[in-house]
Amino acid sequence: MKRRTFLHDTALTFGALTLAQQNLFSGWFQQAWKITMLTDDIGIFTERGGTIAFLLSKKGIAVVDSQFPDQSKHLIDELKKKSQKPIKVLINTHHHGDHTAGNISFKGIAEHVLAHENSKKNQENWAKQNKAEDKQLYPDQTYTDTWCQKLGKENICLYYYGAGHTNGDSLVHLEKANIVHMGDLVFNRRHPFVDRSAGASMKNWITVLDKAIEKFNKKTTYVFGHAADGYEVTGTAEDLKAFRNYLDKTLVFVEGEIKAGKSKDEIIKATSIPGAEEWKGDGIDRPLTAAYEELSA
Ligand SMILES: [Zn+2]
Ligand SMILES: [Zn+2]
Repeated sequence: MKRRTFLHDTALTFGALTLAQQNLFSGWFQQAWKITMLTDDIGIFTERGGTIAFLLSKKGIAVVDSQFPDQSKHLIDELKKKSQKPIKVLINTHHHGDHTAGNISFKGIAEHVLAHENSKKNQENWAKQNKAEDKQLYPDQTYTDTWCQKLGKENICLYYYGAGHTNGDSLVHLEKANIVHMGDLVFNRRHPFVDRSAGASMKNWITVLDKAIEKFNKKTTYVFGHAADGYEVTGTAEDLKAFRNYLDKTLVFVEGEIKAGKSKDEIIKATSIPGAEEWKGDGIDRPLTAAYEELSA
């Protein structure tokens, strides 16, 4: 985590350096991405956008999420160094650009792209609206409730528990390793984006997290789409419970404010959520707005 903060600070002060100093640093910037192995054959990749996970097996490679095109190219180059096996499947936890814009780098490389059926529709709708269809690689495989497939010794299962961050979020379980990629269903100590335009529901998001806590166990390692500076993008059921509490406290707070006669503009000016003060930083207006809209719908 310290390294990440260092990179962040360095980026801010980069412009103040002399050209010679910038050249000294350029090596750093070319490798600003980071791979962390969670087991011998499962790792996470972080650079820009939602955390990527990958599985290396004797039968081939699986990748979960793709960040942006440059980032996924960095990842693919590194995977090639680690394994000569084909990329059997690229899984998208949901449609947002910071998880799927990099799909295009897998064109002709990944044998399949897999996502929940709503995620595929959302990706198509977004691309049409933004005239970005030529920059997409859409899923060629979708599922409704559950999807499972063996890859080497690992069993990969996707679960859909209804609307949360969007209406198409998958939980991706690597069963043997007991690792679950939560996509953006967990923002670790960071205020979440709640995509109501894509069917998000904060109320049901709580249910989704409850189902995950029930389905998996205390030894499960979770991978999170995003975390606040100084927090990890991996964690345990305790982090899911903390985020569940955050969503609950946000709804309780906004409901109380509505009952007290406060306007939306007044409510979204709050600087913290009572009972969930660990969530700091920018973007608090987004969950407050989403809670207000969901509660007054
Ligand atoms: Zn994201
Ligand atoms: Zn997202």
